[in-house]
Amino acid sequence: MATLSTRLTNIVGDRTAQVLEKSFGITTINELLRHYPRRYVVRGELTDISTLVADDEVTILAEIEAVKLRRANGKNILEVVVTDGSANLSLTFFNQAWREKDLRSGRVGLFAGKVGVFKGRRQLAHPDYQLIPDGDDVDAAVAEFAGKYLPVYPATGKLPSWKIMQCMKLAIDSLDELPDYLPSQITEQFRYPSLKKAFLDIHQPPDLDSAENARQRLTFDEALLLQLLLVQRRAEITKLSTKSRTPNTPKLVAAFEKKLPFKYTAGQIEVNSQIEKDLSNKYPMHRLLQGEVGSGKTVVALRAMLSVVDSSGQAALLAPTEVLAQQHYRTITKILGELAQAGTLQAGEIGTQVELLTGSLSAAEKKEIHAKLATGQTGIVIGTHALISDGVGFDDLGLVVVDEQHRFGVEQRDALRMKAKQPPHLLVMTATPIPRTVAMTVFGDLDISTLKELPSGRVAITTHVIPVLEKPHFLDRAWQRVKEEVAEGHQVYIVAPRIANPNKKLTEREIAAALLLGEELLDNEEMVAVEELAPQLSSAALSGLKIAVLHGKQSSETKDQTMAAFAAGQIQVLIATTVIEVGVDVPNASMMVIMDADRFGVSQLHQLRGRVGRGSAPGLCLLVSSAQEDSPAMQRLNSVAATLDGFELARIDLEQRKEGDVLGRSQSGGKSHLRLLRVLRDESLIDQAREVAVKILKTDPDLSNLPELNSEVEKLKLDEAARFMDKS
Ligand code: ADP
Ligand code: MG
Repeated sequence: MATLSTRLTNIVGDRTAQVLEKSFGITTINELLRHYPRRYVVRGELTDISTLVADDEVTILAEIEAVKLRRANGKNILEVVVTDGSANLSLTFFNQAWREKDLRSGRVGLFAGKVGVFKGRRQLAHPDYQLIPDGDDVDAAVAEFAGKYLPVYPATGKLPSWKIMQCMKLAIDSLDELPDYLPSQITEQFRYPSLKKAFLDIHQPPDLDSAENARQRLTFDEALLLQLLLVQRRAEITKLSTKSRTPNTPKLVAAFEKKLPFKYTAGQIEVNSQIEKDLSNKYPMHRLLQGEVGSGKTVVALRAMLSVVDSSGQAALLAPTEVLAQQHYRTITKILGELAQAGTLQAGEIGTQVELLTGSLSAAEKKEIHAKLATGQTGIVIGTHALISDGVGFDDLGLVVVDEQHRFGVEQRDALRMKAKQPPHLLVMTATPIPRTVAMTVFGDLDISTLKELPSGRVAITTHVIPVLEKPHFLDRAWQRVKEEVAEGHQVYIVAPRIANPNKKLTEREIAAALLLGEELLDNEEMVAVEELAPQLSSAALSGLKIAVLHGKQSSETKDQTMAAFAAGQIQVLIATTVIEVGVDVPNASMMVIMDADRFGVSQLHQLRGRVGRGSAPGLCLLVSSAQEDSPAMQRLNSVAATLDGFELARIDLEQRKEGDVLGRSQSGGKSHLRLLRVLRDESLIDQAREVAVKILKTDPDLSNLPELNSEVEKLKLDEAARFMDKS
């Protein structure tokens, strides 16, 4: 008899096994059984065609109503119309006239493809299909591979859903009793089916309730394994030993706090003390600090770095871009003043040295900084990837701060930590608010602190949508407003999605052909581009203003010069791409106009507008868009305009994105274990799983009493490690 690890060649035959491996990387029964149906269609009930939505991948059960073969542009086009009795849908095939003899009217079949729209009508181009055999034995024929509920699988042209259905049956029939890796107390507690029953019920459901129950159980499994792994990983961190970084005499911290021109917010006070406590442990801190742009994270991080220096260690701040590293360096040296001047004539009694290390330094400059890091002369170093490079070594690196975590892979963060002689404390900062369960899933091995409030005195940002289709004159008004803002001595950002548009414009004929074939047109669509907008505005609407452009294709020298000139107020209007998205801080900038705003994601728009309203003048953000009124794009923009709550917006954003994007690089591998789990939808399951994981590991930290469960977690660890190797 077969087990979960039996290879499929023994079950479905060599050829099918090959296709399964090539299409989905499936080689064992276990992997096949974890290829879950997307949904079910009910045999005997045709699919409601009126509910199909453009761009959906669908499998429908429908009856053929009419078939027509015609010639156009030297091609045979076979057009088949299928119906559910009330609405119909056309299927088109090019140069496949031979299908005409199969596809006869009156026949019923399963049709699978992506819903496209051509000339206002919905259609499937080149769908896969499986006709239900003619005659009285329809039921028998279908029953051969499934019951009343036909599972619809993620499929390919070579391996359509019904073929997978057949393989599934072979695999399930060949299986022996299956040991369940979940302890029975848990399955009983949550009334989950056993593993074997869950597989049966999800692939061959007797009814939809059983299918749903099975899905819950299998989703819970994913959440539980992941939480077991993360909770164990956390426990492992506490077993590492490192230097406790309690300052003997907190001289620098005290001097710094005396200089601070403001009082900490309540949130900052709380996080400061959390971090202080973490740093005093003999195992490394592993903390994520999240908070809106401007919530005061940098100040908190700086305090942590100073307290490590007070304990005679060093701290490194890793920033994702040169612009940001520069800016951190400027801000930090400014706040610290003479405290950052140790070793110079300006130095006071108390102080340290702060250095900036980026790729654009000369070899000699780098060498000098490397030397100071190695001897411990430099207390705080701020830098980009250059910090990770080979020549960098520390005397006593005690704390690594990583800014804007989502820009870095875990590997880079770890590469820097490796440079310490003992595992350093780690503080990760992100301004992208992360809903709680996402944080638990993606950063489940980190402790999490959140700065919820903005420092008081911070002015609000007002956001308006400018729908240029309906109200083109609003745009003129917007440029007028830019001029007023500048006249008051403020500065303005104008953001566009593109650097430049490609020269080639598609002919209508090419567009029609692409639509017919369901090809993506997005890349060829005209968008507002920085290089085009700048000359237009300077010669017309904004003539006379000091305008500059900033984008990713410029040399880092040019970018730095432009940013510095903008920060110094020498440039009034900066026309830029999203290079300014993260962390750029020019308090005098009070207004932002975002062109083609519907091209940006919700969180991205929120990040972008966080660049204004950072000083004393109120911030104004205009979202310009030519999206249709009431379109989903326009609705998104309206929700951005309606709230400043980053967590709310992150939620809206995540709901619209694919899970792989949500979890980032670490979880989106082809064989990811998260097949069913959706971090937003399954909030309560994740909570449950976390609780169960903590409870299990409390009494049995290495799962020695649950060997089957342990081996599942081990497999997950191996997979993660393999993904890590793939990437490095
Ligand atoms: P973040 O890194 O979260 O974007 P920063 O730490 O850079 O935020 O702080 C944003 C601005 O607010 C900075 O100019 C900083 O000096 C100022 N700031 C930080 N904390 C406070 C506070 N408690 N009260 C007033 N201003 C503050
Ligand atoms: Mg910051």
